[in-house]
Amino acid sequence: MNTASSRSTLTTPQRKNASMCQHQPPCPSADSADREAAHPVALHPEQGWSLLCNGVLLFEDTGELLPDGQIIAPHRPLAASQVMKAA
Ligand SMILES: [Zn+2]
Repeated sequence: MNTASSRSTLTTPQRKNASMCQHQPPCPSADSADREAAHPVALHPEQGWSLLCNGVLLFEDTGELLPDGQIIAPHRPLAASQVMKAA
């Protein structure tokens, strides 16, 4: 019985998902079309953006900045979604 050769590295940390999402079930990844459904982990409404747990920066005009630097243009018309209350 020679078991030495069958012992390969057991733990190979795979970093396919470098997000900070610890939710169960996991939130949509940054490259999924559903990425906006991830949970916000940092909200800065006064600055107009929030950080989602998949690493996506979501701006209030619906623009997005992905963790790999990719920029998603705003895709919702502002006029319809913003009902102003004058301050
Ligand atoms: Zn999450």
